[in-house]
Amino acid sequence: MKKILFVSSEAHPLIKTGGLADVAGSLPIALAELGQDVRILLPKYQSLKLAEEVEYRCTIRTDNRDVNIFETRLPETNVIVWLVDYPDYFGAPGNPYTDEFGNAWVDSAERFSLFCRVAVEISQNRAYLDWKADVVHCNDWQSGLVPALLTMEPNRPATVFTIHNMAYQGLFSKEDYFQLNLPGQLWHPGALEFHDMLSFIKGGIACADHITTVSPNYALEIQTAEYGCGLEGLLHHRHHELNGIINGIDVDIWNPGTDAHIAQNYTDKDLAKKAENKAALQREYSLPEEPSVPLIGLIGRLVDQKGIDLVIDCLDSLVNYPMQFVLLGSGDKGFEHRLKNLSYLYPDKISVSIGYNERLSHLVEAGADMFLMPSRFEPCGLNQLYSQRYGTLPIVRRTGGLADTVVDALPHTMADKTASGFVFDEPTVGAMLETIKRALLLYSNKRAWQQLQKNAMRKDFSWRQSAEQYLNLYNHL
Ligand code: ADP
Repeated sequence: MKKILFVSSEAHPLIKTGGLADVAGSLPIALAELGQDVRILLPKYQSLKLAEEVEYRCTIRTDNRDVNIFETRLPETNVIVWLVDYPDYFGAPGNPYTDEFGNAWVDSAERFSLFCRVAVEISQNRAYLDWKADVVHCNDWQSGLVPALLTMEPNRPATVFTIHNMAYQGLFSKEDYFQLNLPGQLWHPGALEFHDMLSFIKGGIACADHITTVSPNYALEIQTAEYGCGLEGLLHHRHHELNGIINGIDVDIWNPGTDAHIAQNYTDKDLAKKAENKAALQREYSLPEEPSVPLIGLIGRLVDQKGIDLVIDCLDSLVNYPMQFVLLGSGDKGFEHRLKNLSYLYPDKISVSIGYNERLSHLVEAGADMFLMPSRFEPCGLNQLYSQRYGTLPIVRRTGGLADTVVDALPHTMADKTASGFVFDEPTVGAMLETIKRALLLYSNKRAWQQLQKNAMRKDFSWRQSAEQYLNLYNHL
């Protein structure tokens, strides 16, 4: 049995802004089911949704500050979560990265460097918790200092650093580095220095014993200039210690057979019932309740990465076809504005909900016929996995985890029943439009469509297989 400290800035259902939370809220459970002793380390944000008892455990002194550690559990599980309590940093409303008005925290470097220091103290059993980690599993830049700081410790645990998104790197100035009292020995290009700046993510990439990303294809892509965000050279240099493990999904939360957020439960055996969700979704979005008009859904952060500009440019042509489009998301104000305008122009075809709404995200997955995800890059992507499980066929760009998890509907993949969606290569409006048209055409062939839905719904995206790969990795370190 391994003692694993899983360090993350978010974990569903306690706090979530994106896919990292889904991973941190389910991989530890899957590892515990494989008999491992996993503890999650998370900041004690004011906005945590705490469902279980929270208990004070100890106070740690690090970097001249007293930090309290509280203990709770992931709701309805035995997985222990240690919460790093430092009200000056985590006590205000907002999310892990922005205040309640959406402005990035100005003291992110201070917040997460303290968080990383606490991770080091706990993993080295200096926190009065009577627990020493065998493996510290860090995630994204917010925990990137941990592998670097641990290189300076004798008898340290093994370290794994998982990249969920290369685009967010935690870059700060050289002055910040010295204000943070970080050890001078780590200020060099082989550790935390990146072009005379402090790079949190580099600490993970340069110093962890092993690096993973959340899909095999993204592990290759980030070794190229197009996707490596300036760190492709280092990633390529470390390619023997770098691999991709595809994310699983929480198959209890995302189960159309039992999902309490949707209008009607269904399985691949009674797909006709899915239609009630479509009607409910059309009502919710004030679109005409037309069962036979194909309904395309999209959920996500409205940012460049997700190809939202392509979607906006494509919709003007798409409205000439029989179809409806619903969107749930928030992000770039310009995108929000343009999408809203399109919904005013085409109220019978396009409807947009700006915001973050977990219940509605389940209904979109269940009620739409197709799910659009034209990302410019996508480390793994979760919505295409959810949508396959809900028989809502994804239309995706061939990149990152989308390429690894969606099988394009072509004559041979339809014949061998592996086809589960639609895939295009170039990030252009033309390529996307052609592929959506291909999907709309196939939608009119009910038998073929149902077969694709069944292929998609029968795929196994559970965490078990991925958790076994992580465990193998821990055992080899
Ligand atoms: P990323 O981590 O890049 O945002 P992923 O597809 O990996 O993208 O994961 C996004 C997660 O956040 C999914 O679980 C998705 O359903 C959820 N999500 C994103 N935007 C919203 C929203 N506006 N409302 C509800 N859930 C959302």
